[in-house]
Amino acid sequence: MKSQDVRKQFLDFFQSKGHLIVPSAPIVLKDDPTLMFNNSGMAQFKEFFLGNGTPKSARIADTQKCLRVSGKHNDLEEVGIDTYHHTMFEMLGNWSFGDYFKKEAINWAWELLTEVYKIDKDILYVTVFEGSKEENVPFDQEAYDIWKTLIAEDRILLGNKKDNFWEMGDQGPCGPCTEIHVDIRSAEEKANVPGKDLVNADHPQVVEIWNNVFMEFNRKADGSLEKLPAQHVDTGMGFERLCMVLQGVQSNYDTDVFTPLIRKVESLTGAKYTVKAKDEEEDKVNIAIRVIVDHVRAVAFAIADGQLPSNTGAGYVIRRILRRAIRYAFTFLNKKEPFIYELVQVLSDQMGAFFPEITAQKSLVMNVIREEEASFLKKLEQGLHLLENVIAETKGIVISGEKVFELYDTFGFPKDLTELILRERGYNYDEAGFEAAMKKQKDRSREASEVSTDDWTILVDGNVETFVGYDQTENEVKITRFRKV
Ligand code: ATP
Ligand code: MG
Ligand code: MG
Ligand code: MG
Repeated sequence: MKSQDVRKQFLDFFQSKGHLIVPSAPIVLKDDPTLMFNNSGMAQFKEFFLGNGTPKSARIADTQKCLRVSGKHNDLEEVGIDTYHHTMFEMLGNWSFGDYFKKEAINWAWELLTEVYKIDKDILYVTVFEGSKEENVPFDQEAYDIWKTLIAEDRILLGNKKDNFWEMGDQGPCGPCTEIHVDIRSAEEKANVPGKDLVNADHPQVVEIWNNVFMEFNRKADGSLEKLPAQHVDTGMGFERLCMVLQGVQSNYDTDVFTPLIRKVESLTGAKYTVKAKDEEEDKVNIAIRVIVDHVRAVAFAIADGQLPSNTGAGYVIRRILRRAIRYAFTFLNKKEPFIYELVQVLSDQMGAFFPEITAQKSLVMNVIREEEASFLKKLEQGLHLLENVIAETKGIVISGEKVFELYDTFGFPKDLTELILRERGYNYDEAGFEAAMKKQKDRSREASEVSTDDWTILVDGNVETFVGYDQTENEVKITRFRKV
């Protein structure tokens, strides 16, 4: 089943159950001080759960562009190393705002997976919240009893607070969740280690696909729980992971969400992606290719939603992600010219039908990425050279924080990038020294008037503004010049 059809069938299914289908909210949030990026499907509905405002319908479903690279959910370090965590991914979700509850949510999830998508029941496990005495929250007997009517009891596992209890914050709406996991290992592997031992254990072929959260309680300031007056359902299913299961492959990167991008990277760089790397060299190339095809999606969709790379806030997160991809290509694919921007055409061909913003903003996105690549590549080689010298001169395994700052300040190396490169070589760095050097520089420039730049560009009707170029120095994006057309 093609990924386009996987997405469509999800939305059609929930529409047939009375849900209103809504578009994804932008990946970047402009007006939520607590969150930079949309990191789950529920973010755009948060206010409804807090009792502010009423949704258009008591039942809603959608696919949400999510980014998990900062704050509470930060998967960046895993991305590319593993095969099922992305920076940007789509979260398929269905919601009940004070309407249906556990019985419908669980039964529909099961119907969709086993009857519509026809996933074999024997590869599924579910988890139910076991309860927590010290937190004063009960075992989710209700969910357990519903699952018992659908699945063999030895496939219902109990999960702890970390995996199976959701809360918005220290206070406010919260409740248990039930999650669905798949075990797509070979029969032989299954015979050796039972799947239930690998659920929530970071196994690349025993992965969580769907979380169903039941907002049932309100946590009060004194820590006690009370039943919410209206109870809600909030679910999120990883689209790329679902495609992996339905396309019978072992990695998200072997689905048609990623293979066209991978083929393009191969043709642009001459590198080869191998489904199973046979040695460390092949593995390094694989990781680099996975990082690039993952990161380009995050960066492209963020720019298409109006967030330009910059040196502050969300813009700096986007810049860091892109620079990470550029460095992987430089070091492991030996690619020293801009090419990542060319992948945007593939993204647009592949996703433009469902996410028209990527096609509408294609030339802006390509221009911004190409400029970013060109400007970072100019400094990257020198910076890496400096780093080599520093490593050679260092006794022990801790690099001076001042040198890491110099790389940041003069060569545009985000500190997490330097950290990553050092980690690959078995080194780390003196973080306090880095912060001290940073503070010194800030003190020096305190007198200089602050140039505040707007990281956002307004995209009216698709193409009102055209990217011309940057005027930038490493620590200050002076102004991104746009010309009205
Ligand atoms: P995991 O335990 O695998 O990190 P999670 O418990 O953090 O996932 P949830 O917050 O429950 O994830 O999000 C709902 C669903 O979104 C998950 O069941 C999974 O299918 C998907 N998902 C979560 N994080 C990612 C990611 N970084 N990349 C791709 N899919 C993801
Ligand atoms: Mg996670
Ligand atoms: Mg989890
Ligand atoms: Mg989860």
